[in-house]
Amino acid sequence: MQGLMMEQPLLVASLLVHAERHHGAQEIVSRRVEGDIHRYRYRDLAQRARRMANALAGLGVQPGERVATLAWNGYRHMEVYFAASGSGAVLHTLNPRLHVEQLAYIIDHAEDRVVFFDLTFLPLIESVASRVKSAQIFVAMTDRANMPETHSLSTKLLCYEDLIDANSDVFDWPLLDENSASSLCYTSGTTGNPKGVLYSHRSTVLHTYAAALPDSLNCSARDSILPVVPMFHVNAWGLPYIACMVGAKLVFPGPALDGESLYELIETEQVTLSAGVPTVWQGLLAHVDALGRAFSSMRRTVIGGAPCPTAMAAAFQERHGVDVLHAWGMTELSPVGTVCSLKAHQLTLPQADRYAVQAKQGRAVFGIDMKIAGPDGEELPWDGNATGDLLVRGPWVTRQYFGCDDESPLRDGWFPTGDVAKIDRDGFMQITDRSKDVIKSGGEWISSVEIENVAYLHPKVTAAVCIGARHSKWDERPLLVVVKKPDSALTQDELLAFFDGRVAKWWTPDAVVFVESVPYGATGKVLKHRLREQFADYFLPN
Ligand code: AMP
Repeated sequence: MQGLMMEQPLLVASLLVHAERHHGAQEIVSRRVEGDIHRYRYRDLAQRARRMANALAGLGVQPGERVATLAWNGYRHMEVYFAASGSGAVLHTLNPRLHVEQLAYIIDHAEDRVVFFDLTFLPLIESVASRVKSAQIFVAMTDRANMPETHSLSTKLLCYEDLIDANSDVFDWPLLDENSASSLCYTSGTTGNPKGVLYSHRSTVLHTYAAALPDSLNCSARDSILPVVPMFHVNAWGLPYIACMVGAKLVFPGPALDGESLYELIETEQVTLSAGVPTVWQGLLAHVDALGRAFSSMRRTVIGGAPCPTAMAAAFQERHGVDVLHAWGMTELSPVGTVCSLKAHQLTLPQADRYAVQAKQGRAVFGIDMKIAGPDGEELPWDGNATGDLLVRGPWVTRQYFGCDDESPLRDGWFPTGDVAKIDRDGFMQITDRSKDVIKSGGEWISSVEIENVAYLHPKVTAAVCIGARHSKWDERPLLVVVKKPDSALTQDELLAFFDGRVAKWWTPDAVVFVESVPYGATGKVLKHRLREQFADYFLPN
């Protein structure tokens, strides 16, 4: 027998419609790239998003077409989020930290025709523009007065505020199929070229419900939320959508992510909840501690993307009265998978035991099913000891990468995360290692394979292995282990200089270790885990 409930598709635009109707006067505050602070309300966001939706239609954007953004966290970016997805196009957020060649690859792969960008990224856009085939229209996210005077894009460059002014704010959000695509985000956390994760309206709305729950990111209309995690990195962990759903105040930091700027914003806007990777919080804590400052409003911070060091959790909680929510997720999971929210019986544990729980990545939020598996795929027990590959499934987990129709990443219907983990009896998952061959530095990926490929181009290198070693500021930094050609003189400086222009600057390894040989396994593959173990603490002080 069929249920007798209404069929209402779950659509991204409905989040905006809800926010406008029920929280129209709630504020959205943005630090702009122009340097000033901008404030307006949800009702203004909704009105301008409708204007931008009309502008996109005027630019000939078709249903399903990808619309790219290269932008910081700010209100104009949020407008494009809803204008693109809401009107049936696909919002494609580009990561400005990628090397220009990678960006060009991604833009062409996604067939982005219209690219919105913040002024900060004009030089990057100019370099990209000469390399891409698909992009034809570039929109500078600023007003006429701030439009750049000199650039090499004049024939294709439009002004964002001109588009807003020229278009009507009457636009009916179409009733789309909830399974149609809403946004696209590429990840380089896999081997090979970056891969696109294509979210649907349904997956986005379901993820929004789950991520807002009290034992998830715990968001409400009484919150003032500062997403430090970029809107180009998995939709800022979904916070722009969550804020609309619950009617929270939103505070966008723009490009200023240093401790001083963040602290100032947190205080003036009375932020109650913030979210970001550990590297960002180190800068904030250092600033606050150096000046002996306190947080007058911030009560919770979500730390994820990399393991949250216990010292950081302790600093926030003990010195500043800010609760830490350690979370784990992936681009492929929209991104929230687990959150380390303590259960009642854990609240009374001795402090050291509580920190041991908080070092774990947490419990699965409803909707995410997880398991750990041994080498033959056999499921392992949740006993806090058995360690295996972490697999997940759920309605906001990807089943296929964009444009990779003939390959499925799934294993028997489960998505292999590339993380290695154990799970305890309370269901708390803890990551112990990574099986994917990538390095995560300051929350962003570095491909070890690409670093090795560059090293192999050097005529004096016989073998090169790139591994991630722990780093106190960046969580991990690349270390290059090299075997030189016999009788050749090669110094660290000479080899590192070889990376100039070949990879993004921050991808260049921090150090080179020259060795006589590297360990190989039976199939002739380098046993990277051995080197990872040997050099794990290379960058840490003794
Ligand atoms: P991304 O797709 O860029 O968000 O990266 C996802 C990956 O980052 C995961 O598969 C993990 O390897 C890593 N990661 C995310 N959150 C955490 C965390 N809390 N602790 C450890 N690693 C994490």
